[in-house]
Amino acid sequence: MNRRAALKSGTTAALGLVLGGCATRPAATVAPVRAARPMVRLPRVHASLERVIRTTVGLRPYRPSGFVLRAERLDDTTLVHNYGHGGAGWSLSWGTGLMATELALETGHRRAVVIGAGVVGLTTALQLQRRGVDVTIYAASLPPETTSNMALAGFTPTSGLVNFATRSPAWEAQFRRAVTIAYRHWQLLVGPHWGVSWVPNYAPTDTAGSAAGANPLLPDEVRAARELLGPGEHPFPMTYAVRRDEMRFEPSIFLDAALRDFLVLGGRVVVRRFASLREVAALGAPVVVNCAGLGARDLVGDQELTPLRGQLVVLVPQPEVQYATNGGVRTDRNTPGGFLHMMPRSDGIILGGTSEEGEWSLEPDPAEIRRVVERHVELFDSMR
Ligand SMILES: Cc1cc2nc3c(=O)[nH]c(=O)nc-3n(C[C@H](O)[C@H](O)[C@H](O)COP(=O)(O)OP(=O)(O)OC[C@H]3O[C@@H](n4cnc5c(N)ncnc54)[C@H](O)[C@@H]3O)c2cc1C
Repeated sequence: MNRRAALKSGTTAALGLVLGGCATRPAATVAPVRAARPMVRLPRVHASLERVIRTTVGLRPYRPSGFVLRAERLDDTTLVHNYGHGGAGWSLSWGTGLMATELALETGHRRAVVIGAGVVGLTTALQLQRRGVDVTIYAASLPPETTSNMALAGFTPTSGLVNFATRSPAWEAQFRRAVTIAYRHWQLLVGPHWGVSWVPNYAPTDTAGSAAGANPLLPDEVRAARELLGPGEHPFPMTYAVRRDEMRFEPSIFLDAALRDFLVLGGRVVVRRFASLREVAALGAPVVVNCAGLGARDLVGDQELTPLRGQLVVLVPQPEVQYATNGGVRTDRNTPGGFLHMMPRSDGIILGGTSEEGEWSLEPDPAEIRRVVERHVELFDSMR
């Protein structure tokens, strides 16, 4: 029996766990009643301030009512918007990229401009090309100078994406389709060329009910099965650890590969910043797809777009570490806006996280760097 099947079986029922999709039901807090499994052995992350090799700051393009995916007319141009993915742009990119492509194809034209060369612009451009469209990308900055390069980056399709309490049903339908398309597409790219892989993710916790976790908006097939490890079954300094499998993206590898493939397929790239939609319309392109991320705020005057500032601390790479963590130390609970996330990548051990709404500064905050590193030192130094 595989893990998903096991979790849906009576074993899970006996544990009294509330699984993904039931987040609105009260979470169970009973401990597992079954024979303990062998302790999971994991190599320790050597976290310390001395091992920090760089810090990055990125501004997630957040809109409380969610990303914008729609077409409108601008003089003789059809303008298709595909921006505002918050902390989920990597996760959703192939999905909204395909849906934006469908809107572009409805015009009947086979020539298009894409604004933006982050993960959303590049995946959209590739989707257009694969359907026979001649594409030119215009971007103020190219990788590695995009927000997409500053991501952690895992498959986190609901992270910092929308105010779920006020989402519209129409948006929700778009979201569910986009996340399904993207989830399937990313799986096909696993391997070194695209820098996509799977890693187990451990979330240490004192509450057995934390295994509920998954957002109820996610379609069933996108929900990662969660497994609750009890005392003695995991090496972390808390009572339980929730384990799930997570897709991991290597931003430098993927964005460079996507740009290369775009050029191989005959695409052109122009480095240029547009100050207004008038300048965009003056290009005379029949179709323009706006993938400007947070840049869309000024470009289209969308004042709902706001930054969710996120800072990452990168430690010396440790190739032997092939698991991610979420949270994990008791002392971090009362830090406002603070959480913890570790993702190992070939370019370093990535430590997050911060999420500051409305904060535009790109200056690293030394106090946050210290908090994130010290809390991870606490976590990994107390691993068994
Ligand atoms: C710390 C952090 C962690 C994250 N972790 C994750 C994660 O784990 N999973 C996940 O899915 N997402 C994550 N994200 C979110 C993700 O990085 C973003 O949602 C995504 O990068 C947005 O991509 P984009 O292509 O829309 O924008 P960008 O990458 O910002 O690209 C925008 C492009 O548009 C161009 N542009 C903008 N304005 C103009 C203009 N006026 N004229 C011409 N060109 C313009 C820019 O130059 C750039 O090329 C994280 C983000 C941060 C900061």
